[in-house]
Amino acid sequence: MKDKIEQIKELLDQLESNSGDAEALQFSKNYNALELPSIVTAIVEFLHPILVPYEIAIYWYLFNNSIVKTGEQYVRASTRGLSSIAKSSSGQAEELGYAVVQKSLNSLKDKGVISIAGDTNRGGTLYKVSIPDEIPGCKALMEKHLSTDAEQVNLHKELDFYNVSENRHKVFERDGYKCHYCEKQLTRFSATLDHIQPVSKGGDNSFENLVTACLHCNAERGNKPVMDFLTKQA
Ligand SMILES: [Zn+2]
Repeated sequence: MKDKIEQIKELLDQLESNSGDAEALQFSKNYNALELPSIVTAIVEFLHPILVPYEIAIYWYLFNNSIVKTGEQYVRASTRGLSSIAKSSSGQAEELGYAVVQKSLNSLKDKGVISIAGDTNRGGTLYKVSIPDEIPGCKALMEKHLSTDAEQVNLHKELDFYNVSENRHKVFERDGYKCHYCEKQLTRFSATLDHIQPVSKGGDNSFENLVTACLHCNAERGNKPVMDFLTKQA
């Protein structure tokens, strides 16, 4: 378990160091507010076991350039372009090799991890990058895991709408995936949860105390009482 947490930390650090512009920096600072950490955890826990290392490297590259950067599950990539993504720990580029990349892409397609979503052009082929709850091999592992933890999850389910992913979606659905403050339309990759009464001021994770917020409003508001924030906006 500790290994997994370390792995996730490293991945998040990488994402942070890759992000040059201010928006991306703010994004990684607010990473904990998003659905992404639970998806990243599911990838490490349920996708890594069904992939070989080359496939894992390619998947993270595609994931970072689609869901993380654009909030969309689509990315254009070429076999040649992917041949140069793997870096050794010394930081030197290490060619993955055209044949290995080709083989890995085919295997990822066979496993339902990625799929071709459009025509190939000079920029490469358009792929859809699936997340664990869409991938058959992961779903099997997740179900096994869930049945083991079922009792524990059930105990929290009714109370905690912040930490239980299934419950988080109920808040997003109640709000129609729209930001409570600026009414921006969000997706499951860009929606965050905001506590009306901050936890630091005794707020809880109940359905009533949580609202859907965009990253910007969530970061702006911080721990300020909701009325202050709305007054300031006006
Ligand atoms: Zn907003």
